[in-house]
Amino acid sequence: MSHKVYNWQINRKMEYEYPQARPRKQAAWVFDINKCIACQTCTFACKNAWTSGRGQEYMWWNNVETKPWGFYPLGWDVRILEKLGPQRWRRQTYKGKTIFEAAPFGEKMLGFIPEPEDYQSPNIGEDEGFEAVKKGQYMKLPHQSWMFYMQRICNHCTYPACLAACPRKAIYKRKEDGIVLIDQKRCRGYQECVRACPYKKSFFRAETKKSEKCISCFPAIEQGEQTQCVVNCIGKIRLFGFKNHWQYPNPDNPIDYLVHVKKVALPLYPQFGLEPNVYYIPALNASDEFNLQLFGPGAKDALNIYRRSYRDKKFIAALVLMGCTDKIVHSFKAHGTISNGEAIGYDANAQEIVRVPLTEPIIIRKNYDEKRNVHRISIS
Ligand code: SF4
Ligand code: SF4
Repeated sequence: MSHKVYNWQINRKMEYEYPQARPRKQAAWVFDINKCIACQTCTFACKNAWTSGRGQEYMWWNNVETKPWGFYPLGWDVRILEKLGPQRWRRQTYKGKTIFEAAPFGEKMLGFIPEPEDYQSPNIGEDEGFEAVKKGQYMKLPHQSWMFYMQRICNHCTYPACLAACPRKAIYKRKEDGIVLIDQKRCRGYQECVRACPYKKSFFRAETKKSEKCISCFPAIEQGEQTQCVVNCIGKIRLFGFKNHWQYPNPDNPIDYLVHVKKVALPLYPQFGLEPNVYYIPALNASDEFNLQLFGPGAKDALNIYRRSYRDKKFIAALVLMGCTDKIVHSFKAHGTISNGEAIGYDANAQEIVRVPLTEPIIIRKNYDEKRNVHRISIS
């Protein structure tokens, strides 16, 4: 039996297997696509922490793929988008069908199981542009030929398809923080979660005959620490925290601020209907149409706000706090001026945990080091 639940990301009610049951606070991430350098440090930090065992060789709970041609597993999004059919929006309201509403007769949602070979090449399509660079083409904005890096983990969805699909009720969403977990004792490896998850972030482990997925580094979260993919990110593009109810955002909470107050960080494929909780600052160089398909109708406005961010002290503070501390930042503030001020982050007890400059100082080293009596090599 399905229930009517409200999904704020598509601005309407929709069908879901279970009644609405939001957690007290929701584990959530903001990824700034524009800062990612595809170094894959996050990917390996996650792999080393959680999936280095036998049967987990092909499992990348975190992966970074090059869009538009990168996929892991192969064609994960284009295949479900094609099955879903036209995805129409009228202003902020999604008028098409979610994967739950588009379920074939007798099934709970639209889905598919990738073939084993679809998992063989995690970086296929890496660094390939949207189109070939034509002869005589030169750089102008927006870029004519574009690509960007897309960081992907389980979205710890508000309406998880994996959970709805599991016939063993082995998947549960924690009331205290909204993290979605698979109970390994209950799982029998039917792979209904693998079929159902449109993001393909539930994986089957042939060795144990059970499914596994990102656990949001819950042992760290419970100690007030951010996830491995966040604390190891070289580009400082990631922020983990807890998101409040969309109607009652706290403007001093950096996740609420970026998602609900500035509306600059958007969910991936909101039209699927899962209310995912990883939020992306869209790619500046991608086409408007592509960003619309990926992030919904708010993408263009989000980027306009992002472009003007250098004038907004609080906005800069939220961005510079990314990757600056291992601890979870529950609230933040900016003080001083943009050129001279600082961003300050606080823990759950309102104790200061991090302080970073709003504007990085520029230090130009002299060619001749008087103290050491040496000339520095200049490569410029
Ligand atoms: S992204 Fe997939 S695996 Fe993760 S909670 Fe959502 S449906 Fe489940
Ligand atoms: S560690 Fe950060 S910069 Fe490197 S690939 Fe991952 S998200 Fe991108």
